[in-house]
Amino acid sequence: MPNEVQRILILGGTREARCLASRLANDARYSVVTSLAGRTTRPNDIAGELRSGGFGGVEGLRNFIAAEHIALMVDATHPYAAQISANAAQASAKQDVPCLRLQRPPWEPNSGDRWMHVPDMGSAARTILAGARALVTVGRQEIAAFFTRADIHVVARMIEPPAIEPPDHAEILLARPPFSFEQECALMKDKRIDVLVTKNSGGEASYAKLLAARELGLPVIMIARPGKADVTSVASIEQMLKLIEAELG
Ligand code: NAP
Repeated sequence: MPNEVQRILILGGTREARCLASRLANDARYSVVTSLAGRTTRPNDIAGELRSGGFGGVEGLRNFIAAEHIALMVDATHPYAAQISANAAQASAKQDVPCLRLQRPPWEPNSGDRWMHVPDMGSAARTILAGARALVTVGRQEIAAFFTRADIHVVARMIEPPAIEPPDHAEILLARPPFSFEQECALMKDKRIDVLVTKNSGGEASYAKLLAARELGLPVIMIARPGKADVTSVASIEQMLKLIEAELG
């Protein structure tokens, strides 16, 4: 008798989640459903099933796991999405369904980098010197802290427009990574940027801005990753596939 197909829930929203879904969708042992928060109006194509929008907290996620007969959950959310990771860890413990995390490693400074490490958005906004022109790449959800600084000029780059109206001292650049080193250097020179503000997202798609800041000798305000719930965590798709196989066979 053939073995039962095992159902895997990927909490997605990242490139890694998309890559993992396409690998698992090609494996007859598993069926895969990816969940997105639903913040992006045009998400990239994802293999397997897709669902979108919040579950309704830990209880909602537990209900989904039970109703969909999920055998294993992979938390492949963005390193800064702390709430959904906490919910996943709790739902995993309560439903007795394993939760594994796929998370890209943070960027590390190299010689020539001028990074200032700050714990959160508010500290990042306060660290920018008065009169400075800042390229801020923290995304639409957290840009508000920088809009309150009327004594700086903010160039805010994001994929989709912010929910709040930008003030006069801010300009919005809508663009989707990846960006090349040449593009990043040209942008920083064109906008006469004095400082770059970024999350430590890791990965290659948005790393060129750090190379450009190094090349131009610009300081970088690096916002620390939030702490995430303690679950087994790996950085690569191959490691994750091995872990899934060990758990589910
Ligand atoms: P979050 O604060 O961890 O999650 C907030 C709520 O959104 C969760 O409680 C959950 O709602 C829902 N949610 C989040 N991810 C979900 C998923 N994959 N499937 C279903 N529901 C999900 O995460 P966030 O609000 O998405 O983002 C927080 C931070 O992460 C921000 O800094 C954001 O910029 C960053 N982020 C960046 C990227 C990127 O690609 N650059 C992508 C995502 C997030 P319920 O409680 O109702 O289930």
